[in-house]
Amino acid sequence: MAERKIVVIDAGHGGADPGAVYNGRQEKDDNLKLALAVGKILADNGVDVRYTRTDDTYNTPLEKAMMANDAEADLFVSIHRNAMPVPGTGSGVETVVFENKGMEGMLGKNIGDALGTVGFTNLGMVERPGLVVLRRTKLPTVLLEVGFIDNEADNYLFDDHFNEIAQAIANGILNTIKQQEENQIEYYQIQTGAFRVRSLAEDQANILKSQGFPAFVVYEDGLYKVRVGAFRNMDNAVKMEQALRQLGHNTFMVKRPAVY
Ligand SMILES: [Zn+2]
Repeated sequence: MAERKIVVIDAGHGGADPGAVYNGRQEKDDNLKLALAVGKILADNGVDVRYTRTDDTYNTPLEKAMMANDAEADLFVSIHRNAMPVPGTGSGVETVVFENKGMEGMLGKNIGDALGTVGFTNLGMVERPGLVVLRRTKLPTVLLEVGFIDNEADNYLFDDHFNEIAQAIANGILNTIKQQEENQIEYYQIQTGAFRVRSLAEDQANILKSQGFPAFVVYEDGLYKVRVGAFRNMDNAVKMEQALRQLGHNTFMVKRPAVY
């Protein structure tokens, strides 16, 4: 990792707020146990882990959001378990986000996919912009519903595959950090044309390829764009641009990636 990333792990509920309760089993306890296990794996992988709680205490969702904001954290993951009005009628994992886009959508997808591999049904991602912990955090935040506490099969999975579940959540977070870093790497491409008609773009790319340039076509904003590259080093991009101009091509330097 380039620099140590800060990840806030929140065990949902706590103290006088047990969360969902089923046959004496309290959500706050499952949440804390899993939060600590996930955090340990992340810490072992070089992440700077901050917990909103490490024992049975209560903080409001707003206080938890503020903790993450104050820590200037990179990612926030809040761990919960689900429940239905009628026990036993729900099953699977759900990822909840403010908005399914950018790094937040990627984090939700990565964790949901990873949890799907340990036996849970992946119920997918839902947007709940009204939730305080999602609305008030100024960083990519995902709330996880790790199975239903009122479902025997989900609880069996939770207890029997506990370590795999913790590892899956950690993997989803670590993969997101990796993607986040890759997205921060800038590189340059040289654009030689933009066409409404795909075949025209492909014709130009073929000419460039026949001249020895690593050309390709991308579809972006309704246009087929012909590009050459990419280069991490701007000097190399400039050299390629000059070579293209000498052969009579129009050039336009493009800096990637688009900002998230
Ligand atoms: Zn909860």
